[in-house]
Amino acid sequence: MKYIGAHVSASGGVDNAPINANQIGATAFALFTKNQRQWQAKPLERATIDKFKLNCEKYGYSSKQILPHDSYLINLGHPESEQLEKSRAAFLDEMQRCEQLGLTLLNFHPGSDLRQISVDNCLARIAESINITLDKSKNVVAVIENTAGQGSNLGYKFEHLAQIIHQVEDKSRVGVCIDTCHAFAAGYDLRTVKACDETFDEFDKIVGFKYLRGMHLNDAKSELASHVDRHNSLGKGNIGKIAFEYIMQDPRIDEIPLILETIDPDIWAEEIAWLKSFT
Ligand SMILES: [Zn+2]
Ligand SMILES: [Zn+2]
Repeated sequence: MKYIGAHVSASGGVDNAPINANQIGATAFALFTKNQRQWQAKPLERATIDKFKLNCEKYGYSSKQILPHDSYLINLGHPESEQLEKSRAAFLDEMQRCEQLGLTLLNFHPGSDLRQISVDNCLARIAESINITLDKSKNVVAVIENTAGQGSNLGYKFEHLAQIIHQVEDKSRVGVCIDTCHAFAAGYDLRTVKACDETFDEFDKIVGFKYLRGMHLNDAKSELASHVDRHNSLGKGNIGKIAFEYIMQDPRIDEIPLILETIDPDIWAEEIAWLKSFT
């Protein structure tokens, strides 16, 4: 079973996200449980939590079809201890919001070394941040997203993801989300069936499909290996249509949320219908 959706708006309250997802024919969705550009957020109100759960049930979204994304401000590998603590506190808050909403996945970008510490040191900090957070929470899986490697962001190599997972104590509560645009921009080709075979084989060998807990389906405005993170609508960028057809037909990518973060929300319904046509 393929669960296909988009990162929908939660404006006016998280309980609106499942309604917005249903309107575009989605069988999965992503959302921010708080404003992604601010550190602080009001706690979720009981009534909002109840409405969210009710709407998810009404439109048939179980927790495995929902992939919340954390705030862009959080850097779990921050070189400075004060900022690292701030990020860890904010990440725990994100985890707890997911718990309250009955969600079981939390998608996040691994972090940045800000060119102040070594890659190994930064990846170890990220793993320690995950360990600390998992200790203080329950049920929610920490889902690390691969990045384009823009600036000093780590996570652009499958080896980075594997290195973090290796240092996480509870392997049952860590996973990864592969963003196709980020992978392509990081240098993983997806333009042909052969390229997809090679990229996904490499992913399997280095990380393992058993850790794949979600995907972001985005075409790329940026070039292969450019390390520039610019999404595009499916089939309109440098990746092209083949990769998405491939993913729809690959049984290793079943039962996880497949989320569009493409640039034109007006055609999400069309993009979802197109993806569904291959299943
Ligand atoms: Zn992301
Ligand atoms: Zn993404």
